[in-house]
Amino acid sequence: MSVTRPIHASIPSVDRILRLAAVAVLIAEYGRDAVVSAVRDDVDRLRASLSKRDGATQNEAAAEHIATRVGASLRAAAAGSLQPVFNLTGTILHTNLGRALLPREAIEAIANAAGNPVNLEFDLAEGRRGDRDRHLEDLLAQLTGAEKATVVNNNAAAVLLVLNTLAQRKEVIVSRGELIEIGGEFRMPEIMQRAGCRLVEVGTTNRTHLKDYAEAIGPRTALIMKVHTSNYQILGFVKSVEETSLAKLAHERGLPLVSDLGAGALLDLRRWGLPYEHTPAAMIAAGVDLVTFSGDKLLGGPQAGIIAGRRDLVERINRNALKRALRLDKLRIAGLAAVLRLYANPDRLPESLPLLRHLCRSRDEIEAQTRRVLPLIAEALAGRATVTVEISESQIGSGSLPADRLPSFALAIRPTVARRQASARVDALSRMFRALPVPVIGRVHDGVLYFDLRCLDNEDRLLQQLVHLSGNAKLH
Ligand SMILES: *Cc1c(COP(=O)(O)O)cnc(C)c1O
Repeated sequence: MSVTRPIHASIPSVDRILRLAAVAVLIAEYGRDAVVSAVRDDVDRLRASLSKRDGATQNEAAAEHIATRVGASLRAAAAGSLQPVFNLTGTILHTNLGRALLPREAIEAIANAAGNPVNLEFDLAEGRRGDRDRHLEDLLAQLTGAEKATVVNNNAAAVLLVLNTLAQRKEVIVSRGELIEIGGEFRMPEIMQRAGCRLVEVGTTNRTHLKDYAEAIGPRTALIMKVHTSNYQILGFVKSVEETSLAKLAHERGLPLVSDLGAGALLDLRRWGLPYEHTPAAMIAAGVDLVTFSGDKLLGGPQAGIIAGRRDLVERINRNALKRALRLDKLRIAGLAAVLRLYANPDRLPESLPLLRHLCRSRDEIEAQTRRVLPLIAEALAGRATVTVEISESQIGSGSLPADRLPSFALAIRPTVARRQASARVDALSRMFRALPVPVIGRVHDGVLYFDLRCLDNEDRLLQQLVHLSGNAKLH
């Protein structure tokens, strides 16, 4: 029913709304202050939409409807803004979607550490203070061949801490080509500046020769740094020759060689038919004094930055006051340790580690899933879009192996409109999928919405919520 007389009179008072039985339930659940404030907001909005004459109706102003809306808004606020989504972007390690998914073992370890006192910095044998790194040190030393290791908030923090400890007020030599390749959110020159060291760029392009490094070494040089930005070809062990000769040069001149590996695949991924990525173990074996890498990229763990290598250097790093500011909390120590323990049985990793499961999913399996899901999505979108199965290429993401693509399959969703309207319609379609109870995130290209199913674990959950797409969902 639309408004025929001034509706101000018919908006119930806040007090009347608060006396409703349904609202009493909300007060018990969320507290009186929160409910009063939500009711006031709703009533204010009603008044505002009335004064703009944009269609508030008698119906919307009914006390019961106000109570229903207030309940929904309180529930949404209680649920918080961080929520699970479906990552159907085709990018496995999507930084915006939280990178690696943790294995069950890590989730349990985190929950356990969260709800209990733990011996985080307590030596149970001696009954006195211990060291939090102890829970990770041995595992990391075994997996990387390092003498000693430590862990901080993320890899950016690891690089910052290494540079600040070893090169403050001194010079760090880096190949210009490696700086150019980084880009994105991680800017090595800025980190260097924050760490208090001076960047000395050598070489002209990606081809930097050993003599370029040698000529740049001077009395203020603190270390030589190598930054791995991945677009390698598959050259395998041959690649470490570069590190071997760089390490030889550094050591002849009494300098450490530090390598920022970024992705940090602990094992040679070729074992599973995947592209080669430098491992910390190979780099340390090639003579690198310290490596840094992320916990939530190819390692498949929680966000963390790992520093591994020479004992004396790691000990200096641990004495830096910044270490205290950048250290890991008990939850991530528990999670990372659980993930590292899974590496003891590499043959089981493709099942136990979600990251590796997604990396290893076969093209055939993804195609079969895509064909299975297609008719249900097509039906839910009936008349609004056509849906087809297309060949796709998944990316590993997060700066890991950017040149490598994994063959995959995607649903291609094309709005059934003239081409010139396609872009607006495809935006509306993606919005509709993002508004589902578990938002579905795809990739839009050239007026088409693509869902790459490589990372679709919970197919049933995706299909169950398709009902919300039919019915009253609008495309405008
Ligand atoms: C990703 C990356 C970083 C930053 O790592 P975070 O864990 O995201 O802080 C640094 N260096 C390289 C080479 C990287 O690939």
